[in-house]
Amino acid sequence: MSKSFVTRIGLETGKNFDFRTGNNKMHEYKKVKREITELELVAITCNSCGTRHVITDFFDKNKFHDFSVEGGYGSTCPGDMKTMSFTLCCDCLNDITSKFKVSATSTNTDGFD
Ligand SMILES: [Zn+2]
Repeated sequence: MSKSFVTRIGLETGKNFDFRTGNNKMHEYKKVKREITELELVAITCNSCGTRHVITDFFDKNKFHDFSVEGGYGSTCPGDMKTMSFTLCCDCLNDITSKFKVSATSTNTDGFD
């Protein structure tokens, strides 16, 4: 960002403003140590078979799939203007899709064939 552009739009310029850090030297700061609480995924349960799988590594969550199905006007499943959400493990998803009379579409998402 050029200095003339900054001046034109009225941002702070000159010695008080450090463009590299975005800090204004006229502002005073102190370091504050805070405890942060985050949610960490610890287990996933399949709606179909009820299997509860404890998550121990990054790839564990890939063994489950979350679905959300919205029904528009006139829908009989999940219902008129209703949303159904569920989670299936890979085994249950495979059981369901293997019963399809017409195969589901499957593509590679990693860019490799
Ligand atoms: Zn399952």
